[in-house]
Amino acid sequence: MTDLHSRHQAVLPEWLALYYQQPLELTHGEGRHVFDAEGRRYLDFFGGILTTMTAHALPEVSKAVAEQAGRLIHSSTLYLNRPMIDLAERVAHLSGIPDARVFFTTSGTEANDTALLLASAYRRSNQILAMRNSYHGRSFATVSLTGNRDWSPTSLSPLQTLYVHGGVRHRGPFAHLTNAEFVAACVADLEDLLGQTRGQVAALIAEPVQGVGGFTSPPDGLYAAFREVLSRNGILWIADEVQTGWGRTGDHFWGWQAHAENGPPDILTFAKGIGNGMSVGGVVARSEVMNCLDSSSISTFGGSPVTMAAGLANLSYLLEHDLQGNARRVGGLLLERLRAIGATTPCVREVRGRGLMLGIEITHPGTDEAWPEAATAVQEAARGGGLLLGKGGGHNTSVLRIAPPMSLTVAEAEEGATILETALHSV
Ligand code: PMP
Repeated sequence: MTDLHSRHQAVLPEWLALYYQQPLELTHGEGRHVFDAEGRRYLDFFGGILTTMTAHALPEVSKAVAEQAGRLIHSSTLYLNRPMIDLAERVAHLSGIPDARVFFTTSGTEANDTALLLASAYRRSNQILAMRNSYHGRSFATVSLTGNRDWSPTSLSPLQTLYVHGGVRHRGPFAHLTNAEFVAACVADLEDLLGQTRGQVAALIAEPVQGVGGFTSPPDGLYAAFREVLSRNGILWIADEVQTGWGRTGDHFWGWQAHAENGPPDILTFAKGIGNGMSVGGVVARSEVMNCLDSSSISTFGGSPVTMAAGLANLSYLLEHDLQGNARRVGGLLLERLRAIGATTPCVREVRGRGLMLGIEITHPGTDEAWPEAATAVQEAARGGGLLLGKGGGHNTSVLRIAPPMSLTVAEAEEGATILETALHSV
């Protein structure tokens, strides 16, 4: 164990997870690559979701942050804050929500917590619907929404949560259904649950593609079908776009747009990559919902000028360089290549995903039985080959997650796939 690792073990909580038997100390990054303290270079196939949506050390963002930090670092409340207003206008416009208001937070957890605050105040109810296998954060309220029990450290919560089928398709009794049958079964399940609640539910929260849950997506239109039921009952729909926003899924700018027939969500939450590493999260809601709180509420750091400068520079870069289109094109090629590798690798049960959000599910060959040890072994072997991967999924994380910075090139996608192929075949 390195000295830094033992110091980590001694002072930080045991539940703060680290990847790899010999954890990495990253020192710097460049484009789609990061470097460790020994000077080794890794192609980063996971940092795009963790933080670095666009590219590591993107000069446009670094410059904007340095300039703003050199001018003024202050709280985002009590005084007019130009970068915050600029970014709020752009996000409101992009959100697709009519008459939108934006509130900035410092994390996805806090964004979802704020969405719950709004929904519960608007509906005068603490009953929430969430999806099985979901992840929405680590606060006292959001752990309750997290249907993935591997990631929900306590069951005590101020909310009463009911879990709906639909987020995971490829396992269990729903696996053999057609898309239309699957949607009908999930809608029937939702109606059945609502029947038990006497109409008191505040909201349904859902990730359009489940992130921590292993990059699973329902058939297009599921949430539109849900939305019809919810609207009929006056219940709000919260789309958690923390992983799916800003074009990562390739075909759409937001994940909810694959489910758009019955209109946009009432509340949308975002975080992670929009600051390209700076802590920018937020909530968008139509003004009637956003303005339902009846006393002042502030955030000292949410919307700080420095993080807003990062968000503005990053958003401009990703729109000007059509990184959504890049996610669609390069992600599509990578998906095809990984599917070909998966077809000749017995422990690969499924390769799935959208855009640059791809998952490889590892099971005992020929079965549905999760094989987390093999997933971990592949992750270690890939690291040895110079490639960083994420893990996720229920059943003790047996899904390899691929979410590189969205500027990934075709050559880098090819390089990563080759390393991954060797890693998979070594297990
Ligand atoms: N929602 C989703 C969908 C997430 O993936 C995450 C983080 N993994 C969160 C919320 C919480 O975000 P944060 O870690 O910034 O609090």
